[in-house]
Amino acid sequence: MRKLKTALVCGDGGFIGAHLVKQLKMEGFWVRGVDLKYPPFASTKADDFIIGDLRDKDLVWNVIDQNFDEVYQLAADMGGAGFIFTGNNDADIMHNSALINLNVVKACCVRKVKKVFYSSSACIYPEHNQMNPNDPLTSEESAYPANPDSEYGWEKLFSEHLFLAFKKNYELDVRIARFHNVFGPEGTWIGGREKAPAAFCRKIAEAEDGTMIEMWGNGNQTRSFLYIDECLIGIRKLMDSADFFGPVNIGSNEMVPINQLAEMIMGIAGKNLEIKHIEGPLGVQGRTSDNTLIKKKLNWEPTASLKDGLEKTYYWINARIQDNVNHDYGSIN
Ligand code: NAD
Repeated sequence: MRKLKTALVCGDGGFIGAHLVKQLKMEGFWVRGVDLKYPPFASTKADDFIIGDLRDKDLVWNVIDQNFDEVYQLAADMGGAGFIFTGNNDADIMHNSALINLNVVKACCVRKVKKVFYSSSACIYPEHNQMNPNDPLTSEESAYPANPDSEYGWEKLFSEHLFLAFKKNYELDVRIARFHNVFGPEGTWIGGREKAPAAFCRKIAEAEDGTMIEMWGNGNQTRSFLYIDECLIGIRKLMDSADFFGPVNIGSNEMVPINQLAEMIMGIAGKNLEIKHIEGPLGVQGRTSDNTLIKKKLNWEPTASLKDGLEKTYYWINARIQDNVNHDYGSIN
């Protein structure tokens, strides 16, 4: 009988991790998941799920106890602007995520894991290249000289180097993607760690027609948003590539002002709401994914329309609000 390929997903309790496990199961992998918490919105599809703290070296040695065919390192102390850009969580973000990465990369190397995926972020790109909302620069090589606008971004950059150092010195087969704002059903939508698409879906679903929602900043800042299904395609293509390891952007290049994002969701909801602009944590003025490299190396780029993804996400969040469903969001402290 043919042996199943084995995969470990670190961060299986999170948004992208839980979706990735479903994908790997559909492809026929035997999958182990590990996280501080179970996925909050659907039961895990992993064959084996370990609740544990990846900052703990002993736990990591127990989880990475074999030469997995593939390890996906998605676990991180992270959230949207309300978590990353307030400055209040910087020490925890850096310390927690760096410890996870230090433990995971070492264990992968010693256990001779065959391929390791590391999830970096568009937040590594220099602030000074993203001041113009209409013309941000995010080509992969523009990461240097480095100047991310958050400690979250600095930690991601450090960990990119960490994984690449293990590739250079120990021939660990490492793949690195820089995700740009991934969204979709079963993502965090309440509690302070949610990102803009989910936050606006929630606010708009909760608002009565003709009333008002609040938005941080003037809404002219731009972003692009990647639907989860296309994120998974990008991850798997990078892992299956014969020799391309990145770092590479996995993101959409459909850039929209945040005002337009909110208006698109209002259109889906069939509501007419006033936007009240208030002060809040913002991040850079403009960002979208430069897909030149991914097209060249993987012969692919995301093409799904933002509107389609927003529809699915809005209906999912709206249904949860209508059902008044409560969740345990887990804890990282
Ligand atoms: P998420 O917060 O939903 O998932 C991360 C998971 O890591 C959580 O379930 C959390 O419990 C787990 N975790 C945190 N600390 C842990 C610990 N000490 N031990 C075990 N598990 C721990 O985030 P996501 O959106 O699924 O993102 C996955 C990865 O992709 C993260 O590394 C994130 O930084 C990166 N990323 C995501 C986006 C995005 O838009 N979602 C953008 C750029 C980069």
